[in-house]
Amino acid sequence: MKTISNSLSHIRNEIARLESKYGRPRDSVALVAVSKTRPVSDLKEALAAGQKNFGENYLQEAEDKIEALAGENITWHFIGPVQSNKTRAIAAQFDWVHSVDRASIARRLGDARPVNLPPLNICLQVNISGESSKSGVNPEELPTLIEECQSLAGIHVRGLMALPAPNLDFDKQREAFHLVRKLLSENNNRLAGMDTLSLGTSHDLEAAIAEGSTMVRVGTAIFGERD
Ligand SMILES: *Cc1c(COP(=O)(O)O)cnc(C)c1O
Repeated sequence: MKTISNSLSHIRNEIARLESKYGRPRDSVALVAVSKTRPVSDLKEALAAGQKNFGENYLQEAEDKIEALAGENITWHFIGPVQSNKTRAIAAQFDWVHSVDRASIARRLGDARPVNLPPLNICLQVNISGESSKSGVNPEELPTLIEECQSLAGIHVRGLMALPAPNLDFDKQREAFHLVRKLLSENNNRLAGMDTLSLGTSHDLEAAIAEGSTMVRVGTAIFGERD
């Protein structure tokens, strides 16, 4: 039987194999388990198998899980579109937000971040060409967005995130991720401390790691197909 625990160890081995294949240091790629639409019992199973980073897309669904798992050693990542009326709740309950694509959202998140917590880690989501969703800043607008984020309190801009349109071709997958990696290095002088590339899902893990991803967001390959 294929259990969550089995799938997790398979993915971990795969990440280790790819780190080595592409000359990446061991443990340089963190695994975020994307648990959207999954019941708390699935998260508990992953947690019992040593998983610490969980990614959620929908605030209300996430809040129920965060409450049910209060006291557990979990790092929560918000990876879905951020609506401005949700920024207060997100800033209070999450450790990372991967999907920030405008300065007004970054500012609201920072303003709402409780002062007793460390700055909220954020990634700026980039809309690279061919991206199916409308989320993400256009690459030409990225320098301005980074500059607008420079002086904001309550947040720490950690790097870039992208979710390219699904493509079965490995070289095409790499091309898309390469663009994001290039954007990070081109913009690194604009803001100190950017060290994160949030790239890769179940379907393009290898291309993402080949192009320098430091955080892969994997759902299906851990928890199975979503309904
Ligand atoms: C759902 C989702 C994932 C995980 O995708 P899988 O194909 O299930 O691995 C990763 N990133 C984002 C932003 C998502 O919405």
